[in-house]
Amino acid sequence: CGIMGYIGYRQAQPILINGLKKLEYRGYDSAGIAICDGESIAVRKAKGRIDALVQKTEQSGLSGSIGIGHTRWATHGRPSDENSHPHLDATNKFSIVHNGIIENYLEIKQELIEQGVAFRSETDTEVIAHLLAREYAGDLVAAVRAVAGKIRGAFALGVMSEYEPDKLVAVRVASPLIIGVGENENFIGSDIPAILEHTRDVYVLEDGDLAVLTSDSVRVMSLLTDDPVKRELVRIDWDK
Ligand code: GLU
Repeated sequence: CGIMGYIGYRQAQPILINGLKKLEYRGYDSAGIAICDGESIAVRKAKGRIDALVQKTEQSGLSGSIGIGHTRWATHGRPSDENSHPHLDATNKFSIVHNGIIENYLEIKQELIEQGVAFRSETDTEVIAHLLAREYAGDLVAAVRAVAGKIRGAFALGVMSEYEPDKLVAVRVASPLIIGVGENENFIGSDIPAILEHTRDVYVLEDGDLAVLTSDSVRVMSLLTDDPVKRELVRIDWDK
């Protein structure tokens, strides 16, 4: 239901959690974060209020300056720790958050299970993580594009991979997503309040957009080609 992403020079954990709190108004049943410290991805997630997630991070926190976070409103699979996002592929190299519904997930899941993939959750979302691992051949953007061509439905995605720990990939298809542009840091949000305490400069993605964020750049392209797509940088002048 809510997505928050961060890439920059600060510790991602508090930024993600605060961003998720700003998205609470959308409603949710669980929350989670995944952070990459440059070497590996670690996940904390919990059913219930964001406070339950905060408790887990207080027991053992995550260090790193790139991460994705999510508040879930379950559509496929009951609210549970396992079904909460972010989801990982079987090798823990790819981590994703998803808002929306993957309509053809059952047939994809069946195919993946036949190939020997073990699923950890009951969600429609998890197929995306496994598909990314299957499609990846050295280029995360190309893998995301290949996966987006296989799934049908509504999806706003935040994607992070250990193989390319200097970037986040965001995709918008029929589910809202914005990019916040900061100084030596950039943000993904499903809505403006998530990022407003950090920056007021925002790209509002349109359907079919794919964005690649590094600490100091944002490139908006189409899901289909590398050609840049011109989106206006909007200055938000209202308050939180
Ligand atoms: N369909 C996904 C799930 O049930 C995402 C739901 C959401 O948008 O929060 O896990």
